[in-house]
Amino acid sequence: MSDQRVYNFSAGPSMLPLEALERAGAEITNYHGSGMSVMEMSHRSKVFMKIFEDTRTHFRKLFHVPDNYQILFLQGGGSSQFSMIPLNLIGKTGKADYAVTGNFANIAYKEAQKYGTINLAASSADKNHTYIPAQEQLNLDPEASYFYYCANNTIYGTEWQYIPETNGVPLACDMSSDILSRPVDVSKYGVIFAGAQKNMAPAGLTVAIVREDLAGHELPYTPLMMNYKTMIDKDSMYNTPPCWCIYMLGLTLDWLDNLGGVEGMEKIKGKKAGILYDCIDSSRLFNCAVEKGSRSDMNVTFRSASEELDTKFVAESTAAGFTNLKGHRSVGGMRASIYNAMPMEGVEKLVDFITAFDKNN
Ligand SMILES: *Cc1c(COP(=O)(O)O)cnc(C)c1O
Repeated sequence: MSDQRVYNFSAGPSMLPLEALERAGAEITNYHGSGMSVMEMSHRSKVFMKIFEDTRTHFRKLFHVPDNYQILFLQGGGSSQFSMIPLNLIGKTGKADYAVTGNFANIAYKEAQKYGTINLAASSADKNHTYIPAQEQLNLDPEASYFYYCANNTIYGTEWQYIPETNGVPLACDMSSDILSRPVDVSKYGVIFAGAQKNMAPAGLTVAIVREDLAGHELPYTPLMMNYKTMIDKDSMYNTPPCWCIYMLGLTLDWLDNLGGVEGMEKIKGKKAGILYDCIDSSRLFNCAVEKGSRSDMNVTFRSASEELDTKFVAESTAAGFTNLKGHRSVGGMRASIYNAMPMEGVEKLVDFITAFDKNN
């Protein structure tokens, strides 16, 4: 089975660790002698409760989540957090700061405007989102209830390399496309969230890490299912949680642990991104528009000077077993998403392919 697999550079859903997939496959009809699949189990059964607790504990350990933070397993994707963040946090002053560094941050910024007064604290739209604004460029409102930003801009290929300093204003951060790729000082944040389908598990699970004291101050009309307090009080089980995805997250975490956790992954992903950017920078044909110092280690964007050549590259690379390298429609060119589960070997082979293409065209 595994030798027919392609190197899948999809931006999401994306590759999962082969080891996790194979374990899931082996356990698909009869999980640990229970006589049933994890997909078929009551979420309140003893067997599933153990999967749930173990996964949450393991996540807390690997991502170094302090005790005064709750780890929630939610649904609705990363996008539902664009509404949940303001609904739960903006009540304090009715104001919030947003940094718009890409498509998803912009959607969140627009959504938040329904619920309060939103200050555009920074924007990289002036240079087509090819950089991350520096700390000195942030226009901070001291009365903001929170400061919102997107850690890794999946479409443009930029990534924040510093944690904004906001003088006590809680940070709300979308880490959908770089969570678990590097150590994070969680204590600096109010809320961190991530859809699972890039670095964790199949689509359908959203992890939210919420500082306890920030919950329970939601706007009065906050829907029951969008209230962090509801989910904290019921241990993410107010309703049926995404059981299968939580189980898959557990398998991914076991794999990550064997590689040295987020500290080990930081080294691996740094190497993968390093060789790919070096290859693009030293090629004749290709160019990465993102400023050095703002480049993403997860989504590497590049292009040639001609659309025709880009099209040829995508066609030939697909035929050679490197799939989903076409850039997002709003940016064009190419994008190689090299999330945690993309093996080093996949990036090395892509580098060889780019080098040969560069020579032959
Ligand atoms: C993919 C992605 C989203 C959207 O996630 P959904 O689960 O599809 O709602 C949001 N933010 C970022 C940074 C993403 O990469």
